[in-house]
Amino acid sequence: MSNSTVSRNPYAVTRNPMTDNGLRITNYVHIFFMDGVGMGTADANLNPFVTAHMPYLNGLFGEEWYVPNGSWVNGRLAPPHATLIPTDANLGLPGKPQSASGQAAILTGRNVPQLIGEHYGPKPNQAVRDVMAQGTLFSEVTAVGGHAALLSPYPQGYFDAIKSGKRLYSSVPLAATAAGLELMTADDLRHGRAVSPDFTGQGWREYLGYADIPVFTPYEAGQRLARLARDYHFSFFEHWPSDRAGHRGSLAEAAQHLELIDAALGGLIETWNQENDTGLLIITSDHGNIEEKGHRQHTRNPVPTILVGPGHAELAAKINDLTDIAQIVRRYLRLGDEEIGESLIANL
Ligand SMILES: [Zn+2]
Repeated sequence: MSNSTVSRNPYAVTRNPMTDNGLRITNYVHIFFMDGVGMGTADANLNPFVTAHMPYLNGLFGEEWYVPNGSWVNGRLAPPHATLIPTDANLGLPGKPQSASGQAAILTGRNVPQLIGEHYGPKPNQAVRDVMAQGTLFSEVTAVGGHAALLSPYPQGYFDAIKSGKRLYSSVPLAATAAGLELMTADDLRHGRAVSPDFTGQGWREYLGYADIPVFTPYEAGQRLARLARDYHFSFFEHWPSDRAGHRGSLAEAAQHLELIDAALGGLIETWNQENDTGLLIITSDHGNIEEKGHRQHTRNPVPTILVGPGHAELAAKINDLTDIAQIVRRYLRLGDEEIGESLIANL
């Protein structure tokens, strides 16, 4: 391929040497998404982060990393191997951010609440769907022949309920299926191709009637995500029980839940730093909730975005709100951006 051909193609991902089923995966991105996790205050009566035993994240970022602090450089916390960015989820709209429009903002890079005139959720309405129909990270990656996957699996009952119309897709599986991807199943979970939204898989045994689902520790689940992410240009994992722990349950239960997340992120980030040297890991959320247990609603707090991987500090400088995350992914994968295409060519 000559350079002149390359310069007309904005999709750098297609420039990688071909392998048996398409593309050599060099640059890749994984988004670890946790629903309803914000950054709050240091009030132990309100915020379960204060009492939760979180050895991994506390070790990485230091005490009270979950409270945005004006003394951080540029508002970011940046130990050597990761950057934490308190990220605006309000997107210029009043009211409480909601899941459908927030997740759609993450996946499209568009200000979905502004475009539809409100924060909307939990499931997308037609207005959210219309914005997502213009393209998401999933569809942009698959459109250029890249490999993408939603790594959280769904039980058979979910597929049946979608088919019968009893259940609507939330924004994340809507984006994946609209891009032509098949959602992962119990069989994918059994064979290690997916990771359970609850990390361990225990919920499949207890609540879903799957006695044969293997059970992992949260740390092992995080390790597995890091390894699975290498098989895709773009992969996404959705952990939704954190939002439920914000809406229901006690402060102590919320703290226990954060301990699961800490262990999973420990497995994910440690493995990422040891083994995934060309991948970018993005951890983020759609809105606050669990960090304020004085009520059972979403919050207007910033959400913690964590970047791990090559250039994390430089990329973090571009992130201020949820719409910036997709831009980072596009930049890292060199998707559909002429300017980035040009700068890449300059490096050839
Ligand atoms: Zn919620």
